[in-house]
Amino acid sequence: MSPTHLQTARSQSKVDSAAIEKLLRGPEQLALRNKVLPVLANDPIFDKTRKPFLNHAQGIIDSLKVCKRLLELRDQHNWTREEYVMALLSLEETVPLAMSENAFMTVIDSQGSPEQKAHWLPRCRSYEIIGCYAQTEIAHGSNVQGLQTTARYDAQTKEFVINTPMAEDAKFWIGAMGVTANHALVQAILQVPDSFQPSGYRSVGPHLFIVPIRDQITHKPLPGITVGDIGPKAYGGFRVLDNGYLHLNSVRVPRDYMLMAHSKVSPNGEFQPAKHDKLSYGSMVYLRAGIPATQGWSLARAVTIAIRYCISRTQFSTSPGTPENSVIDYASTRHRLYPLLATSYAYIFAGKELLNSYYDMMDSLAKGDVSKLAEVHALSTALKTKSSWDCVAGMEEARKAMGGHGYSHLSGVAAIFAQQTPAQTFEGDNYVISQQIARALIKAVMLLKQHPQAPLPGSFSYLHQVLSPSPFTTSPDNWSNPSQQIQALQKCAAKIINDLAVVLAKNPRTPWTDLSWTSARLAAAHADIFVVDSFQKAVQAHGNPDLRKLGELYSLTTLVKAIPELVEAGVDTAGLRQAQEAAVGAISKEAAVGLTDAFGWLDWELPGVLGKKDGRIYEEMTRVVEEWDINKGEYGPQLREAALALTGHESAKTAKSKL
Ligand SMILES: Cc1cc2nc3c(=O)[nH]c(=O)nc-3n(C[C@H](O)[C@H](O)[C@H](O)COP(=O)(O)OP(=O)(O)OC[C@H]3O[C@@H](n4cnc5c(N)ncnc54)[C@H](O)[C@@H]3O)c2cc1C
Repeated sequence: MSPTHLQTARSQSKVDSAAIEKLLRGPEQLALRNKVLPVLANDPIFDKTRKPFLNHAQGIIDSLKVCKRLLELRDQHNWTREEYVMALLSLEETVPLAMSENAFMTVIDSQGSPEQKAHWLPRCRSYEIIGCYAQTEIAHGSNVQGLQTTARYDAQTKEFVINTPMAEDAKFWIGAMGVTANHALVQAILQVPDSFQPSGYRSVGPHLFIVPIRDQITHKPLPGITVGDIGPKAYGGFRVLDNGYLHLNSVRVPRDYMLMAHSKVSPNGEFQPAKHDKLSYGSMVYLRAGIPATQGWSLARAVTIAIRYCISRTQFSTSPGTPENSVIDYASTRHRLYPLLATSYAYIFAGKELLNSYYDMMDSLAKGDVSKLAEVHALSTALKTKSSWDCVAGMEEARKAMGGHGYSHLSGVAAIFAQQTPAQTFEGDNYVISQQIARALIKAVMLLKQHPQAPLPGSFSYLHQVLSPSPFTTSPDNWSNPSQQIQALQKCAAKIINDLAVVLAKNPRTPWTDLSWTSARLAAAHADIFVVDSFQKAVQAHGNPDLRKLGELYSLTTLVKAIPELVEAGVDTAGLRQAQEAAVGAISKEAAVGLTDAFGWLDWELPGVLGKKDGRIYEEMTRVVEEWDINKGEYGPQLREAALALTGHESAKTAKSKL
């Protein structure tokens, strides 16, 4: 068999893919992957090709079988907890058990008292309890203070009575609630006894309650509970997750079912607020902080498929009689895909650095030190926002770069897009949470105004520029200089903050919602500085020349996208676009193969067939298509009948019945 275009390009690549993979994943993750992934890849239950033909209920049943098989494999192979979690997370889509692990257990771990953790977490790990996180209601999502679910404390019985008063107050969208979970972590407005209030109760804001929703033996809804699945979602995404709804009608839970690491309710109903009002942010920050790396790795899958396919795919020859060119050889294909390759690396590096800052912050929080919270909260929010915007847009661009086959389920890229696009909405809608970043940055600037020498955390340090801008001139030939790149991005963010500060100085009561568009621009600019800086640090640490080229391409692409903002900030952008185009040109297709191989994907991890590592895609497409249910098997006679009915010819069946 002669080598494919992809194999030829790979054989000519000088990229040290193995070394870069080690840098991207780290030795521990590599060891986990080597142990766990081959087991999954060789088990037919994890085969993804047939999934588009399942209806909603079949998809969920299939997903539960996948979960069950994972548990069997865990026991069969004596997987450690890390190995099992790696297996769970390496499935392409979010299965119900992942929600229990990621949302339910994580929140109990960060907001439960030591006794609560000791009680609930072992039961969760053994899956005696499967949980979900129920915050959003039909009529309220972003506005958490506006939630209508109430938890009223009954000091007589030492229980909370939980209600979703109206139909529109039902919990909705809750992952794993539809059919799987037997417990829910319900966000409800806590009401504590207060004899000064006409109602006899005082509301003290949203708090979290563990609520059993299904019987652990029969799995039927418990008294007072109405629960079900909300049905199919956009683009066929989240097919294997049972997002659900929940009505609660005077459901009683014991006092210690309220998570009480921070605020507490005593047995006689006295409310003790948290020592610091932001202590409960820990788990939210964690969930947001995980998103940039997930987005980076998801874009990495999409871009690997697209680059491999565009090398395999040939169209047009340069002169008659010569072989056709790979479509990656066309400038417009490279200009679309190589910056996306750089973007995936950028968010993987930045996501790693962000998670390290998160763990560092949690260590400090455990000692009662809240000083790192504002910075990590702002960073995780900015990066969640910007990574989901950039990576999801990148996935769609990757699909388009693949031409017609990109639109087939067989490309796999559409499935990645469908799975990742709601990250722009969940864990806080990007436009809503951007305002939190803008507020934090404006607050820091106000502090600086009063105390010019006040210490600022690293990622806020450029705020000095807002009050006393330093002179900055660019040189057209100097755009590859990391310092010029960072300074230009800082100028850009400082200008947006300054714009906000001017509006607020004129009218300090300007509602933040009026500033939400500018806040979103600021969130993006703040994130860009961190992401470019992270990539630069990774390049410096590794010294790999291909990584350096990719890092430069990322910085320059970020700057080119920001040209309108840079110009407004007074930065001379002469030479910038040319520098970015040269950076695209500096990546050869051989290097692009090496840099995508460095992600270390098994074919099993890339949905569809167009990203196959050997590049033999047409054979595989033909094989899979011929296997589709619609082309053989049970639907055959039914489909023929339906087609014959259109043409007016009598079908065999009707003709027979006339005899
Ligand atoms: C796939 C998926 C899974 C989910 N899983 C869960 C789950 O497991 N548990 C759970 O509790 N929830 C879950 N959710 C719900 C999710 O967290 C919310 O949908 C999300 O927080 C957005 O809130 P919303 O739907 O109320 O949007 P809305 O706030 O109604 O937003 C509508 C529009 O208004 C804009 N907007 C609203 N307020 C403002 C403002 N102040 N300033 C500027 N613009 C504004 C938004 O930008 C948006 O464009 C899930 C959602 C999805 C899509």
